Amino acid sequence: MEIKDPAVKARMEQARKLTDSIFGKKVYIRGIIEFSNCCRKNCNYCGIRRGNTSVVRYQMSPDEIVAKAESNLKQGIKTIVLQSGEDMSYTKEVLVDIIKRIKALDSGCAITLSIGERSEEEYKAFKEAGADRFLMRFEIADRELFKKLHPDDDFDERLAAIKTLKKLGYETGSGFMFGIPGEAPDADDQNIALLKELGVAMVGCGPFIPAEGTPMEGSGIHADIERCLDIYSKIRLAMPNVNIAAATALDAVDKGARKLSLSAGANVVMPNTTPAKYKDNYSIYERKGKLDDNIADAKKLGAELEKLGYTPLWNQRGDSRVK
Ligand code: SF4
Repeated sequence: MEIKDPAVKARMEQARKLTDSIFGKKVYIRGIIEFSNCCRKNCNYCGIRRGNTSVVRYQMSPDEIVAKAESNLKQGIKTIVLQSGEDMSYTKEVLVDIIKRIKALDSGCAITLSIGERSEEEYKAFKEAGADRFLMRFEIADRELFKKLHPDDDFDERLAAIKTLKKLGYETGSGFMFGIPGEAPDADDQNIALLKELGVAMVGCGPFIPAEGTPMEGSGIHADIERCLDIYSKIRLAMPNVNIAAATALDAVDKGARKLSLSAGANVVMPNTTPAKYKDNYSIYERKGKLDDNIADAKKLGAELEKLGYTPLWNQRGDSRVK
């Protein structure tokens, strides 16, 4: 694909060069298990918001979750990402048990939680049980727009949660959406500045894509591929050592954008390993089920990456270099 804007092209080249100098041409692999699409919150763009009655809800049992983690480990995926809506029926005890059981299968694996806001006591218990990392996106640095999008949430509490996770010793990740209707012209700069201020170890960013059945349905995708790639480059240049995930949502903007993001500083690929019978119902944004890949696709992607000169790091945790 031809990048038209010379400034974007130059930043991409600079970002990839910097990534190569730190990570080489290596790409970390993470396997996501979306274990529940139930959520207590009502974010105005999200397909699994509690008010969306058109979603078929599911909750994987602890045995199913552990079995899927075991299958990922056998296939060389050493980071298990447990992701869900804010589903409080998975109590502290239930999650602690799941984490311990996965760690008992392979003490050398890494467990990442992406389960939304919980109490400090719970974060602590999950950490003590063996969880290594936690993803908590702030979504947008503009607090007024944050409130409009997330009626149940408080911006300061979100930032406080990210700081608490860091304090507890989690390898902490955050990120934002871009192309949100009503965002400021300098939204990308504001978002990247906040990421930097938070000093996170991992970054996950993607275009704003409202889901069907939500108040923001049909408000469109407002980021083109050049903007997506430019944001990735800017993040890499601002935070050289962080792990940056190539978001699947990029492919909603342009098929192949996710792969291209590796040329703009991304160094992590996260195949979706949720069982096929559930996957389509984790519809946080439109067409997500169609874009998600699986293990077979991940292996294929691995082969494609190799052709492009990258080395997918199967069987490695890929810890962050940010301490
Ligand atoms: S964005 Fe997260 S917290 Fe908000 S409704 Fe969706 S899953 Fe729940």
